[in-house]
Amino acid sequence: MNESSLKKHLSKINNIELRYFDSIGSTNDEALAWAATGANDLSIVIADEQTQGRGRLNRRWFTPKGSALAFSLILRPTAAQRPHLSQTVGLAALSIAESFSRNGLSPQIKWPNDILLHGKKSVGILVESVWSGEDIDSLVIGMGINVYKDSVPPADMLQFPATSLEEMLGQKTPKREEILLNVLDSFMHWREHLGTNELILAWEERLAFRGKQVEVKAGNESPISGVVDGLESDGSLRLKDLHDNSVIVRFGDVSLRPVA
Ligand code: ADP
Repeated sequence: MNESSLKKHLSKINNIELRYFDSIGSTNDEALAWAATGANDLSIVIADEQTQGRGRLNRRWFTPKGSALAFSLILRPTAAQRPHLSQTVGLAALSIAESFSRNGLSPQIKWPNDILLHGKKSVGILVESVWSGEDIDSLVIGMGINVYKDSVPPADMLQFPATSLEEMLGQKTPKREEILLNVLDSFMHWREHLGTNELILAWEERLAFRGKQVEVKAGNESPISGVVDGLESDGSLRLKDLHDNSVIVRFGDVSLRPVA
C-alpha cells in the first residue's frame, strides 16, 4: 500500500480526497484537524502505521507498520442526516461487516463498535465529532482493520481476544487498497439509509451474542446483565432481564462482554 496505489483505487469513486502517511500519531487526530479547517465530505486520512492509535477513552489501538488498514473518514452531515448521527457507528460497522462477507467471512458486530470474526476482535471503530457551537459540524470515523497477522496485539495488551483477516483467509487476504474500496462502496450505500428501519435490521442481523447472556459496563456504574434481544429503532441495544423485561442500553462508553 502506498499513496499512488491508493489514489489509483480511489479514483473509481468521485470526489474523494486523500491524505496518506507512512507513519502518523493517529489518523483521527489528523482528520479532526483537517475537518476543523474545512475538509470536504468523504475526505480520508490513511496511514501505514499509527504510533498513537486510539480506542475509546484513550485506550491504545495497536497499528504496527505494514499490518493494518487504519483510516479515518470525514463526514459533513446533511440536515436530513443530523437527527440520526448516533447511528454512525452502526453504519460504519455494518459497512465493514458487509465488505468482509463479500470475502466469504461471517462477521458479527459486538455492539456498539467492534467487529468479531469467529468471536475475536478484528476491527475497532472510533467516532469523534467536531462541534460548531451546539451543532455537529463534522464527524470523523476512525476504522482500524486488522489485515495481516502482525496487526494482532500481544495477548497481555488485550481484554478481549483478537484476530486478523490473514488468520481467517490466509493467502486469499485481499490487498488493503481493495478492502478500503469495498468498505467505502458499502458505506456509501448504507449512508443513504441512515435513520431507516432497513439499516437497523441489517445491523441487527449481524449482532453478536444474540440470545446470549452478556454484561454491559459503563464507566464505574454497576454492570447491567441480560440476554441480547436486538436493537431499538435508534440503534440502542435491547437486553432482556431475568423477568423478561426490556432493558435499553444507550450509546456511550459501554463495553459488552459475554458471560461464560
Ligand atoms: P473495547 O474493547 O472496550 O471495545 P476499544 O474499542 O476502545 O475498547 O478498543 C481499545 C482496546 O482494544 C484496547 O484496550 C486493547 O485491549 C484492544 N486493542 C488494541 N489494538 C487492537 C487491535 N489492533 N486489535 C484488536 N484489539 C486491539
